Amino acid sequence: MLALVTTPGRAHTTEVTEVPDAAARPGEVLLRPLCVGVCGTDREISEGLFGVAPDGEERLILGHEVLARVEAGGHGFTRGDIVCATVRRSCRHCLACEEGSPDGCLTGDYLERGITRLHGFAAELVAEAPEHLIRVPAGLGPLAVLAEPASICCRGIRHAEAIAGRQPWARRRTLVLGTGAIGMLGTYLLRLGGYDVWTAGRSPATEERARLAAACGAAYFSVAETSPVDVAAEVGGFDVVLEATGDAQAMIDTMSLLGRNGVACLLGIDGRPRDVCIDGRVLGVDAILQNRALFGSVNAHREDWESAVHALDEARRRWPDAVESFIGLTVGVDAFAKAFAHRGVKATLTFEGL
Ligand SMILES: [Zn+2]
Ligand SMILES: [Zn+2]
Repeated sequence: MLALVTTPGRAHTTEVTEVPDAAARPGEVLLRPLCVGVCGTDREISEGLFGVAPDGEERLILGHEVLARVEAGGHGFTRGDIVCATVRRSCRHCLACEEGSPDGCLTGDYLERGITRLHGFAAELVAEAPEHLIRVPAGLGPLAVLAEPASICCRGIRHAEAIAGRQPWARRRTLVLGTGAIGMLGTYLLRLGGYDVWTAGRSPATEERARLAAACGAAYFSVAETSPVDVAAEVGGFDVVLEATGDAQAMIDTMSLLGRNGVACLLGIDGRPRDVCIDGRVLGVDAILQNRALFGSVNAHREDWESAVHALDEARRRWPDAVESFIGLTVGVDAFAKAFAHRGVKATLTFEGL
């Protein structure tokens, strides 16, 4: 079968090539991927900066955002069922993984499909254990490929609410920083949750991403024109800030955007070695006197995946035109370079017809 493979650690090795057919071992379900979403993680792996091949192998099949059709039924699934699959797998030797929460793995020895020591889903066929499959509501269609980034947002929001909920707090004003897939989905999920949402990006307020954010009722502003600090001062501080910029300075700055009892959730990654700075009084005075909190969040629990597909379905019903246009490019897997170069909210690769 054909698959999109790369050699982790070596740039420019990504190619569509023949690999041994996937087969379902006892207890697994055989799936035919319909489309696979592409994100910054895939680009980084493809550039040789990230990713680990399975033990004893040199190459890694890419793809961790999948929408697939059940090819051979069994284990509660019927041929033709449409499913997504979660990404992270248990390290098998920590409390969190033992309790079904590899998103909170305590050892860091977890595996991730298409990223760390497990082949991904960008192939004509894949096998997966049924407990890692998420049923897709009928009608959600190709949009379900957004379940992976949406599950990251669901976990971030769920944890922010849990942390904020340790004391009485106002569940009103939220700020989303960034308008990539995570920022845009975060904006929509917070609107579904009944929050007032401000979304900040680099694009001028006249561009497509601004239009998309505004389509669900969020107030968009461009950080090139307006400082988030000024907006925070104007509204009286945010109750929740969701950061999805991938810029460590923007991450630490979230602390200054919070109101009393506010919580900031960091979802971006910035591995650049550099110092970032913060006014000492924001940390040394405001954070304490106003009970502010800042935390990071990665990956998602199965319950976040379930929430994600249902939230996507609800978002699709409420704002159909906008949500449909999140996927700005769909190409066959052999044109993967085009998808990797796409700078819209989401690009996907298709497998049907190979
Ligand atoms: Zn991704
Ligand atoms: Zn673990």
